[in-house]
Amino acid sequence: MSAGESIEARTQTVLAELKRAGLKLTPQRIAIVRELACDRSHPTAQELFERLRPGHPTMSFATVYNTLDALVRLELVSALRLNGDQTAMRFDPNTTAHHHAVCDACGAVIDIPALPPSAPLKKEVEEIAGFTVRAEERIYRGLCGRCNDSRKQGAQSCPSR
Ligand SMILES: [Zn+2]
Ligand SMILES: [Zn+2]
Repeated sequence: MSAGESIEARTQTVLAELKRAGLKLTPQRIAIVRELACDRSHPTAQELFERLRPGHPTMSFATVYNTLDALVRLELVSALRLNGDQTAMRFDPNTTAHHHAVCDACGAVIDIPALPPSAPLKKEVEEIAGFTVRAEERIYRGLCGRCNDSRKQGAQSCPSR
């Protein structure tokens, strides 16, 4: 996904790819693709399902999950587990290389643009493990801007004596 791309343009690109892969473009699948197209919040399947259900009362969780699964298989969406295997998979429409910052307090997941993997680090990994590096994904942990602000406000509102 490039920065200037509109929701509609991204939706059409993804739908064309789904169609090419032989999937029927049902109204429900189109709605799922459009909902996720420019979503920067890295939602779980459950979150998407709950957002879509009011407008699509007959949509099942399985439809949401299976559509996401197809999008991931076609590499149109990335699947992330940022908090270990115990937490739900999150889905990311941003398929360009990037890192993530995860908030300890509210769980927000924020995209951080990635520079190409640094050559010395890459070489080190390759030498230590005999491993060929394809990509580098970092996770930064800490507090997001909003949680930082509310902590500061919380500190200010403490009685002064
Ligand atoms: Zn936060
Ligand atoms: Zn992301």
